[in-house]
Amino acid sequence: MTYDPNNIFAKILRREIPSHKIYEDEHTFAFMDVMPQTEGHCLVIPKQPSRNLLDADLDVLSRTMAVVQKVAKAAMKAMNAEGCQIRQYNEQAAGQTVFHLHFHILPLNTGQIVKPHSNKMADHAVLAKHAEAIRNAFG
Ligand code: AMP
Repeated sequence: MTYDPNNIFAKILRREIPSHKIYEDEHTFAFMDVMPQTEGHCLVIPKQPSRNLLDADLDVLSRTMAVVQKVAKAAMKAMNAEGCQIRQYNEQAAGQTVFHLHFHILPLNTGQIVKPHSNKMADHAVLAKHAEAIRNAFG
């Protein structure tokens, strides 16, 4: 399986399409998922291309996970969530739809239902508000 540089997250990294950015450093980018499964659902991606976890460089994975931890804490704080799920899909058979490695962060409270994967486009004003709240929650 090869990496397609025209996938939608590569376009976001090249600023060819917009995103609600939460965090960026030399190696990593985080932004709101446009079809959130919980309030504050966001994504963390490495800048280095890989289809998914299976072909990712180990140093890239390690740096990306450090940012997943940082963004997860901020998203929980911003959404007043007691916990969070980290989800990650590898290949179409396992539900992957965008073929650039990404980690989903889903802030959750007890008993809260996670909406179906890739379901409904959110209001951009709400996504912008949540992105700002998460940005402001970094410790
Ligand atoms: P998956 O590849 O199945 O792990 O999920 C891809 C995720 O990307 C889904 O949750 C989509 O809602 C999300 N998504 C698709 N296009 C965009 C976009 N332009 N900006 C932000 N999130 C997106």
